[in-house]
Amino acid sequence: MKRIYFDYAATTPVDLAVEKEMAPYFDKFYGNPGSLHYFGQEASAAVFNSRKKIANTLNCFNSEIIFTGSATEANNLVLRGILKGYRSKVIEKNLNLKSYTPRPKIIISSIEHESIIETCRDIEKKGVKIIYISVSKEGIVDLKILEKSLDENVILVSIMAANNEIGVIQPIAEISKIIKNFRKEKVYPLIHTDAVQAFNYLNCSPRESGVDFMTLSSHKIYGPKGIGMLYVSDKCAGYLSPIITGGGQENGFRSGTENVAAIIGFAKAVEIAEKIRFRESKRILEFQKYFFKKAEKLLPLIKLNGSIKQRLPNNLNIYFPGFKAQDLLVRLDTAGFAVSSGSACLARTSKPSYIIKALGYPKERAIGSLRITFGKQTNKKQIDEFLEVLKNIIKSR
Ligand code: PLP
Repeated sequence: MKRIYFDYAATTPVDLAVEKEMAPYFDKFYGNPGSLHYFGQEASAAVFNSRKKIANTLNCFNSEIIFTGSATEANNLVLRGILKGYRSKVIEKNLNLKSYTPRPKIIISSIEHESIIETCRDIEKKGVKIIYISVSKEGIVDLKILEKSLDENVILVSIMAANNEIGVIQPIAEISKIIKNFRKEKVYPLIHTDAVQAFNYLNCSPRESGVDFMTLSSHKIYGPKGIGMLYVSDKCAGYLSPIITGGGQENGFRSGTENVAAIIGFAKAVEIAEKIRFRESKRILEFQKYFFKKAEKLLPLIKLNGSIKQRLPNNLNIYFPGFKAQDLLVRLDTAGFAVSSGSACLARTSKPSYIIKALGYPKERAIGSLRITFGKQTNKKQIDEFLEVLKNIIKSR
């Protein structure tokens, strides 16, 4: 049976060029980059070159890239590591902080990915106050509330560049400006963005957006799974403590033997994503427009969740009134089409999307919304076939 994939926000297939680049690092250049002999140095040079490739693309220094086992780990590292750094190094170094608070605050948006939300819930138990900034009906962070929430106890603000369920893009450069205006010459609040979903379609250079930390994931950009990174601005590295300790790899920020083949693949994927970004965004945007226009004609009751203007070109999150997204998903899957009823992580729990609820909609809308995401292999014919099947499923009820 022919199967069509419309779930690129969950993960992407590994690009052939990426696969090819990785292949020799499994059995030919298999050394441990920490070893001093030839095999080790060969692997170490490959990791160095990959780091350099990513740094060049992001317009940052090699030393500012910390490879992690996933974006989830990178998000954990920044949240837990900044807190740990605040509690230890800041006191040790006796930095010139006006006041040190035993109950620091971290600001996030109410629609962050689970790897941020759940980590915050966990550190909340350890005496941290988490401030959840609400979003508009369109899914955009309320900058006035954000600005009002800043005080000298806030150590970190973490706002995602683009949302994984509704694809809504946040004004990260503006957010950085607000925070920098507030902190002036002070260290805190530091600024982090999770750019996992954004990287394929938006320029994510941290120098341009003004963030101190940024998370990326390889498997969302046609690279292998199990590799991510945290950009750590050189200026802010002193305020981050490792959460995984051991052999001191990754400048001491992430111990554990480097996943050499995955790092090679990730760097290649970053390079390709940057190269095709403009062309691919334009191509995919046409599909987004085409799909929604045609879908609205066929099914006039449907509603889009989140802003259409400030949105990734590959994302459509659609409410089907009177339907359960889970039922639609299963019927579509039976017909050969893969979509999602929320994030892949939430699918495991089958809970209604907290993101749709955070937009201010009732539970029915969260239960009745499907995420359809496009990618490199998507074409118009697939969309036509999908809409035909969807129409028949809805009519046959
Ligand atoms: N952040 C966002 C916005 C995501 O969409 C995801 C994956 O769904 C993650 C973080 C976690 O990425 P990883 O699968 O690399 O842990």
